[in-house]
Amino acid sequence: MARAPVRSSQAKVVSNILEKHGYQLGQYLGKGAYAIVWEAYFKKWRTNVAVKVLMKDKAEAEFLSKFLPREIQVWKGLKHPNLINFYQSIETTNRVYIMLELAPGGEVMDKIRMKGACDERTAGKWFEQLCQGMAYIHSKGVVHRDLKLENLLLDQHDNIKISDFGFCKFAATDVKNLKQVQLSETYCGSYAYVPPEVLQGIPYNPFLSDVWSMGVILFTLRTGKLPFDDSNLRRLLKQMIKGPIFTQKHASISLECKDLVRGTLASDVHRYSLHTIFDHPWMLPLVRERPPYLRDMDALYLRPHLRRSTQRLMTIRHTDGGTRSTANLVSSTRLVHPEALRSPSPPPSPPAHRPPLHARPPLQRSWGGREEGGRAESERERERGRGLAKDGRRRE
Ligand code: AMP
Repeated sequence: MARAPVRSSQAKVVSNILEKHGYQLGQYLGKGAYAIVWEAYFKKWRTNVAVKVLMKDKAEAEFLSKFLPREIQVWKGLKHPNLINFYQSIETTNRVYIMLELAPGGEVMDKIRMKGACDERTAGKWFEQLCQGMAYIHSKGVVHRDLKLENLLLDQHDNIKISDFGFCKFAATDVKNLKQVQLSETYCGSYAYVPPEVLQGIPYNPFLSDVWSMGVILFTLRTGKLPFDDSNLRRLLKQMIKGPIFTQKHASISLECKDLVRGTLASDVHRYSLHTIFDHPWMLPLVRERPPYLRDMDALYLRPHLRRSTQRLMTIRHTDGGTRSTANLVSSTRLVHPEALRSPSPPPSPPAHRPPLHARPPLQRSWGGREEGGRAESERERERGRGLAKDGRRRE
């Protein structure tokens, strides 16, 4: 991992604060979009931890008031061997310190960069651990929404630790019974890892979207390359809809593994649920212990295609009417569900209260955005620009 120099005055301030709370500052570990991460020794537990230090003046106000508290609140409640454990957070006038379990093995991404594709055994071990961690997260009604190789860290025994809950949120309103999935509407994540429905800017099931990202991870683990070229969005979407391509170079990848990749990188109508993944022939010999909550989670992987098709039909109608909506990618794809073409949806009636997603007219939707009523497009554009993080990620 590249170690960028950090100004010593900054390190001094951090060190002083940490000392006051019983930590001894160690080496610099890396830098994220908003934070610098250090290793530190926690005297009380006699253990090394990772400390994420966020400079408040570098972060956007909305990030500090909304996303960071949500990240902390959700992360605090999650405890699993394949997740980075959250220990404590400390807020001072200028900074927020987040104490986390240390992952001394670094990022899986760095391993792939250095050594290329993993063999079937290593990919199997890591993917099974990723599935265990994700099944646990989903069982709590939480979605990660930024799964990628950079966010998979390794402990000292090369075990997967899922990290970075900056985009996570509760997405099942009835967490106890794991029902009522809240479809997401805003673009979240990195282009190379998000599913087509997210790129298209249409309401999507975030649990299924996490599964897609897991498929991208599995493909990359076995081939050493991302499945789709994210340098051009239109091309990216076309490639996603076609599905991942295996060539002669991938002859060493087992047919079962290829099948699992195809099942996770399928359209959301056909995409595997975590339950199906755990039952897949490639996974069966790898699974150490089947998560007990798996059976109760099927409602989370609700297929939103009927809702979607209704909405798409409305968009097409609108486009035919001569005014292109910002969601024009939607009408140019092959994802229209045949049901929608057979039975047109009734025109949306004026809502007495906030209408369900599928009933809202397309003009109110903006690319990857929330419904914003009658606000000017330029205002929405400005907001989009602000909401997009440096690495092309967006928060909702
Ligand atoms: P992030 O802000 O999460 O993007 O992390 C910035 C850098 O710190 C990345 O290089 C991570 O690999 C590293 N890092 C983040 N969390 C940890 C951790 N818990 N243990 C070790 N390194 C970490």
